[in-house]
Amino acid sequence: MTIIAQRMGRIQPSPTLAVTKKAADMRARGENVISLGAGEPDFDTPDFVKASGISAIEQGLTKYTAVGGTPTIKEAVRHKFQRDNGLRFKDEEVIVGTGGKQVLFNVLLATVDAGDEVIIPAPYWVSYPDMVRLAEGTPIIVSCGQEHGFKLTPESLASAITPKTKWLIINSPGNPSGAVYSADELRALAGVLDKHPHVHVLSDDMYEHILYDGVQFATLASVAPDLATRVVTVNGVSKAYAMTGWRIGFAGGDAVIIAAMAKIQSQSTSNPCSISQAAAATALRGDQSFLQERNQTFKERRDLVVARLNGVEGLSCPVPQGAFYVFVNCQGVLGRASPSGGTLNDDVALADYLLSQEKVALVAGTAFGSRGYFRISYATSTEALTEACQRIERGCAALR
Ligand code: GLU
Repeated sequence: MTIIAQRMGRIQPSPTLAVTKKAADMRARGENVISLGAGEPDFDTPDFVKASGISAIEQGLTKYTAVGGTPTIKEAVRHKFQRDNGLRFKDEEVIVGTGGKQVLFNVLLATVDAGDEVIIPAPYWVSYPDMVRLAEGTPIIVSCGQEHGFKLTPESLASAITPKTKWLIINSPGNPSGAVYSADELRALAGVLDKHPHVHVLSDDMYEHILYDGVQFATLASVAPDLATRVVTVNGVSKAYAMTGWRIGFAGGDAVIIAAMAKIQSQSTSNPCSISQAAAATALRGDQSFLQERNQTFKERRDLVVARLNGVEGLSCPVPQGAFYVFVNCQGVLGRASPSGGTLNDDVALADYLLSQEKVALVAGTAFGSRGYFRISYATSTEALTEACQRIERGCAALR
């Protein structure tokens, strides 16, 4: 007999957060660990945004707010959707929650019944399948290989849809692959969805602003307006504005779904943090030009990591077009023996080896539904990345 509910047996702790904790614990013990685990910008929250949070406290904006967000943040979210995506939402069609994670969770909890299927292209962000399982749904994982740029094709979408399909989750730029869907690619998926009016789409646009090489961002609700009533578009301030700790995410979509999400919030968190809402509204409405500067820094780091790792025998590293991750193919080093004995049969063993031997924390591809890969977050300093690449190189060279 256990006190723990059966539903807990269906999920595991977030692997990205677990590896981050492991690295932090090792560092606390005095070990010189480089953590490339969690996806979190190393930049600071911009000063004008911090000032807005401080001013919110001073003004006494420290009380409960409306469940789905203050009028100010909802207005800022609507403004953002229109400015950046050409999407016009009414007040009752947007909601603000405690991070993109809670917003996604609430969409699924509000809509998924036992046995409903949710199509998740792999590699996927680690939390999608477990959120679906907590909602008693069934994740349908569709493998999207490197040969397709880690993107879902219309053919594989069509063959994954069943009468039980409730949602398709699209994440672009993608975590962990950095793959970006073009408007044409989204239109091709929309062509399939046109034939299946029971399928809704969760568009996770969290990395919208982190793009390279002149690639343009596209989101399904704007490229396929006839589908828009079936799309919930999710975004947040964590990645673009380096505001991970403030925990503000938001969504725009059908008012019935948004109302159901608000009902959950009213019974769980009441409202997202009042101070964070004020600061996030300032971030969304403020000068956006710093995003370009930060992207330039991210791009330099991406190029550094891709070039270094492609030079390591046994590793290959496609060039991602967005987000701040590289998803490294490590199949060439698997099956080799570590110097301390034991064969590294899979990416999990390799990640463990690199952490224990070389003190580099990264996340095994298995956590994202793609064996034979690992993810590096390059949202950290050039010095740390250079040192980490050296360690990975040394660790791989020591395998026999
Ligand atoms: N989304 C980030 C990541 O993939 C942050 C950690 C998490 O919530 O999973 O690393």
